[in-house]
Amino acid sequence: MSAKPKGFDRWDLDSHISRAIAERGWEEPTEIQIEAIPHARKGRDVVGQARTGSGKTAAFGIPAIERCSVLGKIQAIILCPTRELAVQVSEEMGILQGEKGLKIETVYGGTDIEKQAKRLDDGADIVVGTPGRVIDMAKRGHLKMESIALFCLDEADRMLDMGFFPDVLWIFERTVNREQTLLFSATFPQEVLDAAEEFLNDPVHVMSEDLEVEVPEIEQFAIKIGRANKLWALGRIIGSSGSDSQILIFTNTKRMVELIVERLGKFRFKAVGLHGDMPQSKRERVLDSFRDGSESIVVATDVAARGLDVDGITHVVNYDLPDDSEVYVHRIGRTGRMGKKGEAWSFATGSEVTMVDKICSTWGLEIPFIEPPALPEGRERDFVPKRDDWDEVSDYFGMVRVSMKINNSETTKRELVDWIVKESRIPEIAIGEVTSDDEETIVEVHVEKVAYVIDVIKGREFQGRSLKPAIVNS
Ligand code: ADP
Ligand code: MG
Repeated sequence: MSAKPKGFDRWDLDSHISRAIAERGWEEPTEIQIEAIPHARKGRDVVGQARTGSGKTAAFGIPAIERCSVLGKIQAIILCPTRELAVQVSEEMGILQGEKGLKIETVYGGTDIEKQAKRLDDGADIVVGTPGRVIDMAKRGHLKMESIALFCLDEADRMLDMGFFPDVLWIFERTVNREQTLLFSATFPQEVLDAAEEFLNDPVHVMSEDLEVEVPEIEQFAIKIGRANKLWALGRIIGSSGSDSQILIFTNTKRMVELIVERLGKFRFKAVGLHGDMPQSKRERVLDSFRDGSESIVVATDVAARGLDVDGITHVVNYDLPDDSEVYVHRIGRTGRMGKKGEAWSFATGSEVTMVDKICSTWGLEIPFIEPPALPEGRERDFVPKRDDWDEVSDYFGMVRVSMKINNSETTKRELVDWIVKESRIPEIAIGEVTSDDEETIVEVHVEKVAYVIDVIKGREFQGRSLKPAIVNS
C-alpha cells in the first residue's frame, strides 16, 4: 500500500501550479490552505479566516488559477483594499500559475488609465484590482464582467465595511454569471459576516471557533508616553534594534507620516514615508526598497496595515494607536510572518491606556506596559533627547504634584503657599491642594506654571533650607 501523498501532491493540482510551487520551494501547504483549497477546488463558496502571514493568498489563488483557462475573457476577479496589495496578490498569482499562460491584469488607480484600458482590451483571464478603478474600467467598457465565474475578496472584512461596501456591491451585482465566491481575512467581525451572507451561497466556513483571532508569535509591548516624548521612545526602539532590523511605523494621518520622517531625519535616522497622497509610482518604489532592504525604516498610514507581505519586517511600532482594534491586529501582522519572529510596540498617552486594555480584552492578548529599551551598551547620549512633558504628569484639572522636603511639623501649609506665591510671583489660583505628612509636603501647581515655580524655588531657601522640589509621577 502506498503512503498518502504529502505536501502539495495530495491534491493532484494543475501541473503548472505544482511545478511552480516546487520551484518556489514550498514543501507543505499551510493550515488555511489545507482546509480551504479542497472546498474551493470543488467550486464551493468559502469564508476563510486565518491569522496574518499564514498564506491566504495562495489559499484563494491556487483554486482561482485552476479554474481559469487561457481564453482572454475575465473568469475570476479578486478585489483588494489597496493598490499595493493588488500588485502583491497579482504578482503572487503570477508566480503560482507558472507556465500556465493566463493573463493576470492588475487594475488600480494612480496608473496610466489608457495603458490599463488597452491591456484589458487585449484580453485578460484574471483581474486583481481595487474597486474604484475596476468600476471605472467597467463603466468605460474595458472590463467585461459577464464571463466572471469566481468572485473573491481579499481582506474581506475591510471590503465589506462602510468605506468599500457600495463599490464592492456594484461590482458583485454585475458579475451575473458568478458561480463561486471566496472571502478571506484575518479578522471577521460578526456584523461583517452577517453582511456577507448576501454574497454567499451555502458557504463553507473555514475559521477558528468563536472568531477568536490567533495572533502570530509576535512579542507585544506598550509604552505609556506623552506626545512630547514619543519620538524619544521611538529613537530608543530604533537605536536598540540592531543593524538588520526593518521597522514599520504606523501613525494615523498623512501629515504625521511626513512630520515623523522629517523629524527622524533631523536625528540621523533615515526613514521614508508611505501614504495615500503620494504618487503611485513613489508608493511602489518605497515598498520595493523596503522589500530589498535598501530602506529600513518606513513610516506609514493604514494603507500599509493590511495584507502587505514584506519578509524581513522585524518591528512594527504604533506611534499612534489605531482607533479600531481590528486594525491593531492587521498592523502588527506585518511582522512575524510565516512563523518568523517579530516585535510590536505601541505608544499610549495617559488617556489612551484604556484603548490598549480594550485591544487586549477583544483579542485575548497580553500587552505589558514596559519602559522603552535602554540605550545600547557603550552609548551614553540619547538618539533623540527627552523633553519635559508636563502634560503627562498633570491631572484632569491640569495640576501637577510637586514634592518638597519639608514635613508637617516644620511649617504650616499657609506659610508655605504664601512663600511660593511671593517668590515666584504667580497668582495663588495656580496652586492647588497641599498635603503633608511626617516626611514631605506635596503641593499641586498648575501645569502652565510648574516648570517656572520649580526653577524659582530650587534657587531659593525657605527658612534657611532648600526644599528640593521634584515632580511626583503618579
Ligand atoms: P496572509 O495573506 O495570510 O497574510 P500571505 O498569503 O501574504 O499571507 O503569505 C505570507 C507569506 O508566506 C508569503 O510570502 C507567501 O509567499 C508565503 N507562503 C504562502 N504559502 C506558503 C507555503 N505553503 N509554504 C511556504 N511559504 C508560503
Ligand atoms: Mg493576505
